[in-house]
Amino acid sequence: MDYYRLGISEARKILDKKEVSARELLDSIYQRIESVEDKVKAYVTLPKEKAYEMADMSQKKISSGQSASLSGIPIAIKDNMCTKGIRTTCSSKILANFIPPYESTVTSRLSEQGYILIGKTNLDEFAMGSSTENSGFFTTKNPWDLERIPGGSSGGSAAAVAADECIAALGSDTGGSIRQPASLCGVVGLKPTYGRVSRYGLVAFASSLDQIGPITKDVKDSAILMNIISGKDPLDSTSAPLTVPDFTKVLGQEIKGLKIGIPKEYFIEGMDKEVEASVMDAIKKLESLGAIPVEISLPHTGYAVATYYVLATSEASSNLARYDGVKYGFRAEGKDLLEMYMNTRAQGFGSEVKRRIILGTYTLSSGYYDAYYKKAQQVRTLIKRDFEKAFKTVDAIVTPTSPTAAFKAGEKAGDPLQMYLSDIFTISVNLAGVPGISIPCGFTSNNLPIGLQIIGKHFDEETILKVSYAYEQSTDWHKRKPNL
Ligand code: GLN
Repeated sequence: MDYYRLGISEARKILDKKEVSARELLDSIYQRIESVEDKVKAYVTLPKEKAYEMADMSQKKISSGQSASLSGIPIAIKDNMCTKGIRTTCSSKILANFIPPYESTVTSRLSEQGYILIGKTNLDEFAMGSSTENSGFFTTKNPWDLERIPGGSSGGSAAAVAADECIAALGSDTGGSIRQPASLCGVVGLKPTYGRVSRYGLVAFASSLDQIGPITKDVKDSAILMNIISGKDPLDSTSAPLTVPDFTKVLGQEIKGLKIGIPKEYFIEGMDKEVEASVMDAIKKLESLGAIPVEISLPHTGYAVATYYVLATSEASSNLARYDGVKYGFRAEGKDLLEMYMNTRAQGFGSEVKRRIILGTYTLSSGYYDAYYKKAQQVRTLIKRDFEKAFKTVDAIVTPTSPTAAFKAGEKAGDPLQMYLSDIFTISVNLAGVPGISIPCGFTSNNLPIGLQIIGKHFDEETILKVSYAYEQSTDWHKRKPNL
């Protein structure tokens, strides 16, 4: 049997029935990686020795009938989450040799549940991008078409899940980086409500927007991982002190009578026709399951991309000030301290990261702060209010995840503004802090996956998981696999 094909819940069953051992499952995944990784290039680091140690520890639990929810399950982690003793690079030259002395809260929580760290996945440098082409090391390929990008910035995680190079993965999402690559790779990606999941140990890009979430083969696995990673963490003051429901409980519940908002601003000129048609079909499917579509308006949508690129770059310029050649990783030579700083940052950061540091420093500077940063904060409030108002009349909002399917490598790399528009449908969700999920909802005529985005109220991941599961169970899109 091809064990690497399994998701979490199926793997759990056969591990507990002792049909397969944790080692055998891990062997199967490493063999899969061996055979396809040359083409896909999802991983920056594969800590094999550590993975086998973790597998043996988990096997003891399984053998004694005390398995936890992830005992023996190999999971890939985006390489911007700190793993103690294991290199964490953010796909940046400046952190190429950084070995964290501490563990992120999410990976600690996965460890408590017995997971196996199969590998650290590639990303756009410091999570800035939509294609992984900004990685300081190499570009990941889309498993559905190797000439195309997998999306980004969590492109490595999404490609690893789609190519069955892991059982599930974690990504991070600041403006769409979980949902957009999930959409382009035909897998499930959920960005939780801001504050639902601890950011401790997640290398900061834009702290008021960043959230960690699951990238999985199906909706149930997304709920399983959400149960583990969610909840208050004393190490992150922005994590919310709310009780975490059992997210798997809502799966299978009816969606009859649920009101689904369709925002008119998300069905725009220039959107790919095949994407539009698939999303419309998905809305009809939800209607046939009893949901009630309602046209709504989110009037400030048109300002989202501009607002995001002021706020995200401002926060990034401040967060990235810490990489000075003293505290972390890479250090260049220089005749004095200032020259050492300058050479380290000039050689260590790639061009997109530099572009954003420069832009963010400008928008925060004393002469321009009011015109840009403060104004963007005000518009952010308006965007958040759009959602609050809409959610007075609807239970969830449905949109496309991305305006197009996966584009060709190189197609947008030379034009940052074109690249920024890839996240036009995902960015508002981060600005408002609400949760959003992308699930497979079709394929283009050249066999590229299309994603459906479902957005929920603050801390109401349950509704979007419920709707997603109902849709998934009545369609077969998530069962298709790329031909590798
Ligand atoms: N593509 C967006 C950006 O480049 C979002 C990235 C993200 O969500 N980390 O900033």
